Amino acid sequence: MHDPVSYRRIHGSCHCGNIRVAFDWPDSGPAIPVRACGCGLCTKHGAAWTSHPDGRFYLRVADDSRVTRYRFGTKTADFHVCLTCGVIPIVTCMIDGIRYAVFNVNTFDDVDRSQLVETATNFEGETTENRLARRRRNWTPEAVRTEGEDWAASH
Ligand SMILES: [Zn+2]
Repeated sequence: MHDPVSYRRIHGSCHCGNIRVAFDWPDSGPAIPVRACGCGLCTKHGAAWTSHPDGRFYLRVADDSRVTRYRFGTKTADFHVCLTCGVIPIVTCMIDGIRYAVFNVNTFDDVDRSQLVETATNFEGETTENRLARRRRNWTPEAVRTEGEDWAASH
């Protein structure tokens, strides 16, 4: 039997609000570890990422025709790019029928930046198999939605 875990709900969004993300962070102190990925896309975008394997996330897109899922490299991850404002709040990866995600900390709406603790990382040269295994270990799985649930209402 596990103790009930309390979650901190964090919200992120693109600039125009078309892509909205919420994720529940297990309450284990104020610091949020951030991975500043060294790949070309993240460097050019100034994107830095976080995730927690014991959390869960919700993704809501207002207008799906205004979002592109950009893939590059191993083409196993979808960078959700808003076509209206160009921001990438979330990257997802489907592994064995479960969608996992990392979140762009620069798109958070309700996190004090002093809580973000950045470390440089570089995953170049990793095999696709190792990459997927790492994501399954570290990325945040999508929440199972219940009928009629409206996570945005808790904003
Ligand atoms: Zn947007």
